[in-house]
Amino acid sequence: NAAIRFENVTFHYDANRPILKGIDFEVPAGQTIAIVGPSGAGKSTISRLLFRFYDVTGGRVTIDGQDVRDVTQKSVRDVIGMVPQDTVLFNESIAYNIRYGRVNASEEELSEAARMAQIHDFISTLPEGYDTQVGERGLKLSGGEKQRVAIARTILKAPPILILDEATSALDTHTEQEIQSALDQVSRNRTTLVIAHRLSTVVNAHQIIVLEGGLIAERGTHSELLARQ
Ligand code: ADP
Ligand code: ADP
Repeated sequence: NAAIRFENVTFHYDANRPILKGIDFEVPAGQTIAIVGPSGAGKSTISRLLFRFYDVTGGRVTIDGQDVRDVTQKSVRDVIGMVPQDTVLFNESIAYNIRYGRVNASEEELSEAARMAQIHDFISTLPEGYDTQVGERGLKLSGGEKQRVAIARTILKAPPILILDEATSALDTHTEQEIQSALDQVSRNRTTLVIAHRLSTVVNAHQIIVLEGGLIAERGTHSELLARQ
């Protein structure tokens, strides 16, 4: 389990347009932080800095006290499972895409992860040999199906750190509820960063930060934030 810290983090994609203007937070190992705020506030950007899709333009991000820029991108990503908003899969089978989380997983572990992510029944209805490739050149999956593959991959990988970026947004209400309980299970005792639109989906987070205009406008627990409204 790993603690995460953002220290006075600033970031811009274009030098003349700051996105994050000084972000400070700390997530103790095993705890969950939720980041909420309006669309365009910079929530996903925070997760991209942690996953090292980009590097900060000021301040620093640490995992267990170590600046993420001082280690390789790969070693940072090895300890993180990311379920992004828009999952891009490899042009390979669904099983390959799930196994990418942990290539040496057994067949049983693979099935169990697929079951927890509610993608198992879908896979088993595919005609024999049909699941050879997903993506542009093969089997087309809906946004929700891709999201479930990404969730299965993360369940199988069981990393110390989880990033769930509106991980259930492409799912119907019923599937969302089922998967939410699977995600609650994997995130228990893992350091987790959840990005959400609605406060109601992050009731159990240890802390919530509300992002507005590149700054943290409010922070507290769910009940503290509700009391202030
Ligand atoms: P949120 O997740 O809160 O909706 P994002 O972090 O995705 O917000 O985006 C924050 C801002 O950064 C938005 O104005 C968005 O248009 C801009 N942005 C996001 N990605 C890029 C990029 N790759 N290049 C330039 N601007 C970007
Ligand atoms: P490489 O190309 O060297 O394999 P990657 O950056 O693709 O490096 O992956 C590095 C690590 O990050 C691997 O452990 C991989 O499983 C993990 N990883 C990459 N992308 C994701 C993702 N979207 N979700 C979870 N883990 C990922």
